Amino acid sequence: MLNEQTASKATVPAETVAAQTVAGETAAAETTTGTAPGPKPGHDWSLDEIITLYRQPLNDLLQQAHAVHRRNFDPNRIQLSTLLNIKSGGCPEDCAYCPQSVRYNTGLENESLMSCEQVLEAARRARDSGASRFCMGAAWRGPKDRDLDQVVAMVAGVKQLGLETCVTLGMLKAGQAERLQQAGLDYYNHNLDTSEEFYSQVITTRSYQDRLDTLQQVRAAGINVCCGGIIGMGESATDRAALLQTLANLPQQPESVPINTLVKVSGTPLDAQDDTDPLELVRTVACARILMPKAYVRLSAGRTDMSDSTQALCFFAGANSIFYGEKLLTTDNPQFNKDQSLFERLGLTPDTDNTSGDTAAAQSG
Ligand code: SF4
Repeated sequence: MLNEQTASKATVPAETVAAQTVAGETAAAETTTGTAPGPKPGHDWSLDEIITLYRQPLNDLLQQAHAVHRRNFDPNRIQLSTLLNIKSGGCPEDCAYCPQSVRYNTGLENESLMSCEQVLEAARRARDSGASRFCMGAAWRGPKDRDLDQVVAMVAGVKQLGLETCVTLGMLKAGQAERLQQAGLDYYNHNLDTSEEFYSQVITTRSYQDRLDTLQQVRAAGINVCCGGIIGMGESATDRAALLQTLANLPQQPESVPINTLVKVSGTPLDAQDDTDPLELVRTVACARILMPKAYVRLSAGRTDMSDSTQALCFFAGANSIFYGEKLLTTDNPQFNKDQSLFERLGLTPDTDNTSGDTAAAQSG
């Protein structure tokens, strides 16, 4: 893998951002004066190309990303998802960012799986507040079959309320994805979190390949994929580019790409990380938009600490989805009225059409 030094020297001559066919898209050619590569056919992005894209002057990157965004989405609409933690804490995994791991003393109380009725009540409230998708997250390494019975009932019930459904339950065993699909599950969230190279710095209890295997099972079952990562965990820009490369080069690109910013929770190994430069987030979002033009790119965890200006730049760069609601699993999220005020100031309209293909995912397994 390239380091930062070699990355900055990588040049791919591209006077023209060529016509592209990415994820089935055919887009018009555009001329730029930059030296970064433009979107190109197929899903075979090299790491050098993505690093060059990432490192080009910000104005050039933003211009390219916004052009791709406009070709694929109404730039003034935003999709809203709500996330409910249906089972909190006590997770045996060691994800270094996560307060739900049993290995870290974060003061979080463990809670057993919620009842179906509690979940449906929360889903009704989310729907009435404007959410079109409802994601249910459980702090498991993976669901046991008896747990899955209950989740299947929740998925079916939420679906009946007219909401799109998404779950994030950890690793799936053979046959579990099919059961969820039969219950009507629309999307499964399973984040890769970071690059394969950096992964072991963050998680040791499972491998990158484990994650890819579950994503493959989800695809094979006909469920849409929601998969993204977290920035600000001490990874390099090359790691961020490598994560995007893995996502963009999947046999079928994810329908949804959540981009989280680390929320530093006291008691977790990453609680003393340096703050992330917001412009690195903007660059990551912009590259995600260019590499995966059809995906919903979601600004996920970390918005509470983000300025309105940073969020506005992310929306310009191609983010078109957020989590809506005052909690994201266990961490805070902006208040409803704060988000509504931001939408008004930016002229953004919530997307109430729940057929556009997206899911919910937070800084979670
Ligand atoms: S991110 Fe998910 S898998 Fe990792 S510790 Fe937290 S709940 Fe468990």
